[in-house]
Amino acid sequence: MEDALAKLLKGNENFACNSCQVKVSPEKRQELCKGQCPSAIVLACSDSRVAPEIIFDASLGEIFVVRTAGNVLDKIALGSIEYAALHLHTSLIIVLGHEKCGAVTAACKVENGAQAESPNISAICKKILPAVKAAKKKLPSAGEAEIIEKASAINVKKVISKIRKSHIISKLLSEGKIKIVGAKHSITCSKVEML
Ligand SMILES: [Zn+2]
Repeated sequence: MEDALAKLLKGNENFACNSCQVKVSPEKRQELCKGQCPSAIVLACSDSRVAPEIIFDASLGEIFVVRTAGNVLDKIALGSIEYAALHLHTSLIIVLGHEKCGAVTAACKVENGAQAESPNISAICKKILPAVKAAKKKLPSAGEAEIIEKASAINVKKVISKIRKSHIISKLLSEGKIKIVGAKHSITCSKVEML
């Protein structure tokens, strides 16, 4: 699992230095017809600027990706993570937040009294609200931009706590078969920072 994380961080270095290596060769595609064996599960935001395969310079078959706005967790996202952990034996889970997250920004607006545009968008904001409240408590005199960034990081940690409560994941964790880490992608400098 350390190797899997090191490989992804090396891939992010390639991305940050504009030297991405990944090519999806016909041989690679042929090999993947036999099956998949991804080395990491990534729960990321749906934001078009944070596509995990691109920012980690990863090829087809390397990462199992689950994306929701604000990288929030619901039953379907957690079930997808459990599936990969159980059936594909993927031993690393990365929860990836990011800078300038629209979902976290929307949750901040709701916290400040705005109304979400629909019950579905409201459901996303509700999942992020505890992180916004915690960020405000930690940084009482901070401005909105700073609160948004702090809330993104706290949201990642809260999502990790929820994943740990999964029966399947907690068993794999206790057996030392899986590891969960949190990270945040900076859109400004293209780098992924471990939290
Ligand atoms: Zn986002």
